Amino acid sequence: MSSVDERLNAFVEEVSKIRGVAYVTASSEGFPYMTKGTDREGAEYASAIASSMLKSIEELALIMDKGKPAWLKVYLPEDYRVQMFQYKNLAIAIKYEGYLERVIEKLIDNLKKEITIRCPYCKRDLTFVTVKCPSCGALNVFNEPKCWSCGADLRLKHCPYCGKLIFYDGRKPSFFTLLIYRIKRIFGGS
Ligand SMILES: [Zn+2]
Ligand SMILES: [Zn+2]
Repeated sequence: MSSVDERLNAFVEEVSKIRGVAYVTASSEGFPYMTKGTDREGAEYASAIASSMLKSIEELALIMDKGKPAWLKVYLPEDYRVQMFQYKNLAIAIKYEGYLERVIEKLIDNLKKEITIRCPYCKRDLTFVTVKCPSCGALNVFNEPKCWSCGADLRLKHCPYCGKLIFYDGRKPSFFTLLIYRIKRIFGGS
């Protein structure tokens, strides 16, 4: 596996695990390259049209002198969305429920900006891992310092693999930071 494939594979695996995501598909020249999700038939169909749609939108943007479009979003009934974007030479399409929009866009951001987050203790890849906000329950990407929905402080989180408390950007907290965190936990306040 090349590093591009490994990264894409981690993205596809994690995103397709999210409740409310119907499928994730990456296609090359209109053919499915990597597909995962419950709605397989839809994924293959999306795969076939994603590259050509992205190409058309790119041409349109070029004609209008607007540069390269970041993505293409299709709004479907029952508040489903299909988001398509280009990654390397692949066209990626994700079908998801509307309330997941923010977290899906952050995950795409991590993929496209080549961000990598690793647990400093167990070394597992946390780049595309999502966690529930303890105050409101909204799903956030691991490297979000603040809940996008309620604004809660999410700088310190537990690694989902080893359970250790770490910073959102993969740094190890100091003994002092952990002490303050535990005291706040016991006595409340923020
Ligand atoms: Zn929240
Ligand atoms: Zn860990």
